[in-house]
Amino acid sequence: MKRFLADEAATIEIGRALAAALVDVPGAVIFLEGDLGAGKTTLARSILRGLGVRGTVRSPTYTLLEPYELELRRILHVDLYRIADPDELDQLGLNDYPSGETLWLVEWPQRGISHLPAADLEIRLQADAAGRNLEIAARTALGRAIEAAFSA
Ligand code: ADP
Ligand code: MG
Repeated sequence: MKRFLADEAATIEIGRALAAALVDVPGAVIFLEGDLGAGKTTLARSILRGLGVRGTVRSPTYTLLEPYELELRRILHVDLYRIADPDELDQLGLNDYPSGETLWLVEWPQRGISHLPAADLEIRLQADAAGRNLEIAARTALGRAIEAAFSA
């Protein structure tokens, strides 16, 4: 599935729509791919807000991960841009976040791919003119179900 996102507001809107498609999903793994400045954090923040996260949503650029405990779910926002060695992930307690009961939103997943659960959905953002091209690819049956709920 492809969309053109003309401005930041369009990225935020599609994040809300993705959150709506995720409301009934207890856990899933979503990779957010694209260059620096592509809009990955903007999209993640909008998904988090759409699922009920209130207050500041910090980019996990330095902490590598930011967990959110909501009443109905657990969300793990990960950003591996600054990781030097994937083994750093061993220290972060990722095993506490089984993908069946955690929504994983992972920026720069390729930098720690050997230590991450497999993606259900891969979302790629790419700068184009003043906006962004967004591409969503489902990798599992769960990913296809989320994409279907999203497109509906
Ligand atoms: P990343 O996490 O991929 O490095 P960010 O989400 O931090 O990127 O955002 C980069 C910038 O792109 C932000 O200033 C944001 O406002 C802007 N932006 C997000 N979506 C769009 C869009 N569709 N068109 C134009 N600018 C956008
Ligand atoms: Mg980012």
